[in-house]
Amino acid sequence: MPYPSTYPPPPNGPGYCPRCLEVVIWATTVNRRALAVDPERDPKGNQAVRQDATGRWLVRQLTRERPVPEHDEHLHMPHVATCKVPAPPKPRRPAAPRHRRGVRPNPRWGR
Ligand SMILES: [Zn+2]
Repeated sequence: MPYPSTYPPPPNGPGYCPRCLEVVIWATTVNRRALAVDPERDPKGNQAVRQDATGRWLVRQLTRERPVPEHDEHLHMPHVATCKVPAPPKPRRPAAPRHRRGVRPNPRWGR
């Protein structure tokens, strides 16, 4: 990439949920997205969380192929499952203005 990204890096490590302000751990998924998990380990959770050698928090969803935490992974709940503040409703697209939708066939186009 020729230019550095203008976006701030995603949060990583202990932080707060932006909705309910509870303490969470921001971890990075395999798709390099930030995911908030509850800070306490929870054997019922489905997110395997570990810290790499540089202290970065990484999270992996348990899959059928790798259904148990491995090495230094610990299970956590994803915070979205326990967040007390419901997700904001998705913004609805305003109804399209009822202008012309299609084009009347032109009889001269036939044949
Ligand atoms: Zn929350």
